[in-house]
Amino acid sequence: MTTDLRSIPPGDLTPEHIAQLNRELDGADAHEIVKVAVDLFGDALTTACSFQDLVLLDLTYKVDASVRVFTLDTGFLFEATEATMARARKRYPELRLEVYRPALDIGAQAALHGPRLYERDSEACCAIRKLEPMSRALDGSLAWMTGIRRDQSPTRAAVPPVAWDYKWDMVKFAPLYAWTTEDIRSYCTVHEIDYNPLLDRGYPSIGCAPCTRPAGPDDARAGRWSGSSRTECGLHTETPAPTTA
Ligand code: SF4
Repeated sequence: MTTDLRSIPPGDLTPEHIAQLNRELDGADAHEIVKVAVDLFGDALTTACSFQDLVLLDLTYKVDASVRVFTLDTGFLFEATEATMARARKRYPELRLEVYRPALDIGAQAALHGPRLYERDSEACCAIRKLEPMSRALDGSLAWMTGIRRDQSPTRAAVPPVAWDYKWDMVKFAPLYAWTTEDIRSYCTVHEIDYNPLLDRGYPSIGCAPCTRPAGPDDARAGRWSGSSRTECGLHTETPAPTTA
């Protein structure tokens, strides 16, 4: 039996309800997924944007310009990423963009942990510069949307349209889950949507400048923390569902 999820207050939705929603959204297009997310969660929804491209931001803005959008400024962004963000602010004048920065600036981090922590302990650096600000960005929300896609790496090959995010204890929508790089480029062309120029310079996945290298098309995440086994900063690392013993 299926439940009418719109009859349930969003704060009362459970992982089981979200599993039902995932089945309902399997095969849905990105616009429909964004619309369902907005309809179900309203003000309790937030959208992540890393300014790699503006596709999810554009889709969200067109459904409801008042949806809060957040980005994490680690202090190590490429200039091209910052410039893409600046252009987005002009193109989307009503954009509710919130920028979250680490509690420690780069100098304070160097004083505490030594310079270039990313070279010695990238997980600790990501914890300070990404995970801590992320927890503040999501504070008060019940659901978030992200632009992650199945084609980005083997570790993302099973990304569903929506799931309970046990790491952040809320709902996570991935409206672009089934899109390919070609779909992204096509959307940008058809809708004249901006994207980060580094995508045209051999960077298929764009993070912090010290930890991002060009990569081939087969594994877009291979250019992140190259030379190590890491491909995720921890924002999307799945925490397993609790087991009932
Ligand atoms: S990606 Fe690199 S520079 Fe950015 S927070 Fe992680 S370790 Fe630090």
